[in-house]
Amino acid sequence: MKKELLTLGIECTAHTFGVALIKGKNPLANIRDSYTTTKGGIIPLEAAKHHKEVKEKILEQALKKSRITLEDIDSISVSNAPGLSPCLLIGMKFAKKISLKYKKPLIGVNHCVAHLEIGKLLTKTKDPVLLYTSGANTQIIAFEGGKYRIFGETLDQGVGNFLDSFARYIGLGFPGGPKIYELSLKSKNYIELPYNVKGMDFSLTGILTNLKQKYDSEKYLTEDLCYSAQETVFAMLVEVAERAMAHTGKKELLIGGGVGCNIRLQEMCKIMCEEREAKFFSPPNEVLVDNALMIAWTGSLMYSAGVRNTPEELDINPSQRTDEVEVKW
Ligand code: AMP
Ligand code: MG
Repeated sequence: MKKELLTLGIECTAHTFGVALIKGKNPLANIRDSYTTTKGGIIPLEAAKHHKEVKEKILEQALKKSRITLEDIDSISVSNAPGLSPCLLIGMKFAKKISLKYKKPLIGVNHCVAHLEIGKLLTKTKDPVLLYTSGANTQIIAFEGGKYRIFGETLDQGVGNFLDSFARYIGLGFPGGPKIYELSLKSKNYIELPYNVKGMDFSLTGILTNLKQKYDSEKYLTEDLCYSAQETVFAMLVEVAERAMAHTGKKELLIGGGVGCNIRLQEMCKIMCEEREAKFFSPPNEVLVDNALMIAWTGSLMYSAGVRNTPEELDINPSQRTDEVEVKW
């Protein structure tokens, strides 16, 4: 019988520091702690400081929950791309220390690809189009010709950053997405906003400027602006996702990234899929937001396929793109 791999995963690309353990396909622990603010947005050096402070505690909790020791694991995987450099460095240093101390192979995992792989595992989809809606990244990704290709993406900021920026402007803290969602529930009054789909790509900053101007004019209710912001940008994302499905002929849509927790976005995806006789899948919120389980799982897929990095050669890659990853597994 094939041995079930035991993999330790570390997530550290942005606001979240996490440690997870997975045995074969069975998650044993998925522990995380996220940097938040009550006002203002994410400051990379502050987030890195947060990671530094919590890393030992999070590792300890993950080991305790899964009842294993570091001697037992087969490999360590760490999210080394893409992300905020100060945050990536904390995770990388930590992973290298464990790798060297316990003489375990180390593997660098692309965070965006990991969102897709954990979604596939937990929803049992075979060949989905991924609508990846994160803080910094927003992309429509699908597997074609040996790689995860980007079929469409934001030309400026990620949809999470868009929501967080507006939230910050109107005095809500970080993360702002859930707060905007709560306010949106109080409205059904759509206020026209720019709609910026450009071919397969889309742009969000112009909409943000327009929203800020409308807010400053004091002619509109905040909840109406939150509702309209969601309706507009989610319609844009769903439009591009649908076009990618039509182009590739794929029949499964998978959502990933923290904004994927948004019930209204999920509802709009479902409607689009039903209309084109496709199926919509959303994994649990626990893996939609940044998490280490997806890093552990993707690392174990890579390890099985023979990928090995060493602590000496592995580095962070803050701007690596999804389609630069060679999919060997
Ligand atoms: P990630 O970078 O993938 O961890 O996602 C973080 C982003 O998800 C932040 O920008 C949050 O504001 C956003 N987010 C989390 N929950 C929700 C929600 N329910 N609705 C909209 N955005 C959300
Ligand atoms: Mg993410």
